[in-house]
Amino acid sequence: MELLDRITAFTTFAKLAVFVAPLLFIGCPKDNPPARPRASVSTTTRPVNPSPAVGAAFNGERAMDHVKKQIEFGPRPPDTQQLAKTRAYITNELKAYGLTVSLDEFTATTPQGEKKMANIVAEIPGETNTLILITSHYDTKFYKDMNFVGANDPAASVGTLMEIARVLGSRKEKPKVTYRLVFFDGEESFCEGWSDCGDAQNPDNTYGSRHYVSQLRAHKELENTEAMILLDMMGYKNLELGRDTTSSRWLQDIIWKTGRELGYEKVFIDREEGVGGDDHEPFLRAGVEAVDVIQLTSYPHWHRADDTIDKLSAQSMKIVGETILASLPKIAEHVTKK
Ligand SMILES: [Zn+2]
Repeated sequence: MELLDRITAFTTFAKLAVFVAPLLFIGCPKDNPPARPRASVSTTTRPVNPSPAVGAAFNGERAMDHVKKQIEFGPRPPDTQQLAKTRAYITNELKAYGLTVSLDEFTATTPQGEKKMANIVAEIPGETNTLILITSHYDTKFYKDMNFVGANDPAASVGTLMEIARVLGSRKEKPKVTYRLVFFDGEESFCEGWSDCGDAQNPDNTYGSRHYVSQLRAHKELENTEAMILLDMMGYKNLELGRDTTSSRWLQDIIWKTGRELGYEKVFIDREEGVGGDDHEPFLRAGVEAVDVIQLTSYPHWHRADDTIDKLSAQSMKIVGETILASLPKIAEHVTKK
């Protein structure tokens, strides 16, 4: 994501700038996440709907191990050995959790020529073919002269999604709806800025998510796809999630309310988040309800060489992971009732 062009394009720039600018330059958001969660998906006394089949609980340390592993591979732009190794790692883990994994492979035409890309798709079959997607991109942005390892963008959301996959895969009872975990290739632009290259028809970004929407359409699955949840940059130790203004409000409301019920009211806050473009957009354009769970404007290390693992916390990934897991039955209920 390119903050400057995104924000410039964003209509509430003036509103945002008032509090974004100091954060960007001081680089020190003030709120710390809660020291301890007040509830866990593994307990029976939590205040939200108990899931009918609680298996494993979300483990933040495991998510952090997945982050370490990704960073060890080095910078991971599309069509590189490093991203291929990352893909193999993610795929093997998902299979070890008992999930059915497939690759959605394609060739994209980019400002750097033809690039081979592959989305990773893991499925938890439900009682119906109604689909809810939980997603993250797994490529890092290409930089010619920067060792960009992308701890928060996107290793943290990948690690969190993998841990969500393990928890869902450990449950014995079939869910009401089918969950698909999708790891997108090619979210980042090859050119420096998000919209420096390409045009409205062929943008230089969101290659994987656009391709996946085309696959859902081709397989007549688009009409069954009732919700898409995107995780992107949600592992910062000073986690604070504002509301992306393009997201579907009811979906965002369920997640924000659930997070607050779990005791994370300092994380799920009401300020607007100006994102300006991300993997949820191709879904919104295709008529799929979608939400982006992202901390962009108050993450001072975004697209910088210091987006490193010391900026993250296992607790932040646990907060988001638990909240998404607790939100899923409510989202499933909402989409099956309408
Ligand atoms: Zn990025």
